[in-house]
Amino acid sequence: MAECIFCQIAKKEMPASIVYEDEQCLVFMDIFPIKEGHTLVIPKTHGAFLHELDDALREHLFKVANAVLLAQRTAGITLDGANLLVNDGKAANQHVPHVHIHVLPREHGDIAKVAWTFLTRMLNFFGKDKKRAKLDQLARNISQHLPEKL
Ligand code: 5GP
Ligand code: ZN
Repeated sequence: MAECIFCQIAKKEMPASIVYEDEQCLVFMDIFPIKEGHTLVIPKTHGAFLHELDDALREHLFKVANAVLLAQRTAGITLDGANLLVNDGKAANQHVPHVHIHVLPREHGDIAKVAWTFLTRMLNFFGKDKKRAKLDQLARNISQHLPEKL
């Protein structure tokens, strides 16, 4: 069994609420969401840093992240904007050493709530995980607004 949790998720050795997948990447709901709809895009191959991926894969991940953001919008997730964010390295707050793009819905005036959720989930390791059924439902909803193949 792979040691990296995101490799385990990519290999279906660990459960996740999957939104989209193709040969190169997997998209699934963050189990400790900062906001409803918080989604992660990962390469199926392991790499801790963005520079470890080849250019085509990096471009594909951002293409998929952009499509996920559009799908979140059309799926009715409440958002006025979004953070498409990579924490590249431990010093930059990366906790899972497998490249991932956060697609984090944001609303006007949500900074205090986001900061509070971010801090409390950190204090309590990541915080309380969301119920799988709720994440599965969100994943299905976003998935229905994505093309079958990107
Ligand atoms: P980082 O801090 O490394 O940029 O973000 C890692 C993200 O992965 C966090 O937002 C965290 O909530 C999420 N995460 C950690 N473990 C798991 C897991 O087992 N499953 C899922 N779906 N997300 C996870
Ligand atoms: Zn990995």
